[in-house]
Amino acid sequence: MAEFTMTASNATGKGKPDPSFSSAGNAGTAIAKYGKENVTDATLGVLKDENGDFLSLPTVNKCYRELPANELMDYAPIPGLKDYLDAAIANAFKGHQPKGTYTGAVATPGGTGAIHHMIFNYVEKGQKFVIPNWHWGPYREIAEENEREWEMYQMFDENNEFSRKNLKDAVSKLLETQDSVMTIFNTPAHNPSGYTMTDEDWEDIMNFYRECAKKPNKKIIILWDMAYIDYAGDPDEVRSFLKYFEDLPENILLAVAYSMSKSFLVYGMRSGALIGVSSSKTVAEEFANVNTFSNRATWSNGSRGAQKMLAEITADPQLKASVDKERAQFSEMLANRAQIFIKEAAEENLKILPYEAGFFITIPAKDSAGLANKLAQNNIFVIPLKEGIRLALSAVPTDKVPGLAGKIKAVFAGH
Ligand code: PLP
Repeated sequence: MAEFTMTASNATGKGKPDPSFSSAGNAGTAIAKYGKENVTDATLGVLKDENGDFLSLPTVNKCYRELPANELMDYAPIPGLKDYLDAAIANAFKGHQPKGTYTGAVATPGGTGAIHHMIFNYVEKGQKFVIPNWHWGPYREIAEENEREWEMYQMFDENNEFSRKNLKDAVSKLLETQDSVMTIFNTPAHNPSGYTMTDEDWEDIMNFYRECAKKPNKKIIILWDMAYIDYAGDPDEVRSFLKYFEDLPENILLAVAYSMSKSFLVYGMRSGALIGVSSSKTVAEEFANVNTFSNRATWSNGSRGAQKMLAEITADPQLKASVDKERAQFSEMLANRAQIFIKEAAEENLKILPYEAGFFITIPAKDSAGLANKLAQNNIFVIPLKEGIRLALSAVPTDKVPGLAGKIKAVFAGH
């Protein structure tokens, strides 16, 4: 007999924990039992210091706390404060906004809010958008919540290289039955692999999209999820691919999911922006209008304090320089952790996905839930994904990294 439910039919069964993954254990319980020094908690995508404690950028912390009560606590306008939107655009592009384009932007609660609006407003109900098999899970959850679907392509080929072919095949297939296709790209420092798409990747893919867009009834939407960009190396280099978006035809739209969460280490303050980029002023205005409406109809407005803080930091060269300096130090610490792990993984013959930068390293694996459980028994806590285990090196103090690849390899070998 069907289980009794009080929900509307669209919500029935939603949110049930997956029993195969829930037994991976709880790092917090192990820390209480065995002590922090004996536990490696590589679960959460947040940056932790060398003691395993929460990290914040000191200048960000100070700037936020010095805001007057009204700027912290009053409502923000529905689309976001004007100076925030200008600051978000400036931080997203850092001088690389594609030539010959207009922008339309709204504030959102983090990158998540931006992705939500794109799936809701730019994918037809019941139709599909394109994501790689390695992806951030909420893309799917947002789709399910909003009765949209997705098509996955194999992100890496048998040589562990990014497969542009697989991506193009997936888009071409959908264009046979849909007039509009959105593809989500999380780069640089992709979650969960750490892969950064190269300029050659982008050049090739944009040529392909321009070809697709020659059919005037087709609409090509590219959602750039840039959540980890500030930990991915030189700010100009990681944005140089935007040159391939110059002088777009009006049926190609670029949307940018900008997030303050990682860039300013303010995950819980829930602030980001959705920026539409188009060669058509009308498309950019429409973008701002529909997403402002969705703000009102979904969460009303964003957090004013976070918005004001970004506006102030961006407008003040000294503040900005000190935030950049602090972040650069953290970024170096993260790169160092990754370097140690990657070197040892190679020595241990432990295959990882192609990592360039970012918070995570992922090890492909078949029985990921079983392996995560075994690792948990060894006080190593990771996130099991469908096809591998994800290690958040962002959360692992550097002195716990040496030897970690070897311990994981031993668990894999005995499984
Ligand atoms: N995109 C990716 C790939 C992420 O990993 C995250 C956060 O973990 C986000 C977007 C959005 O984060 P937020 O909503 O906190 O900005």
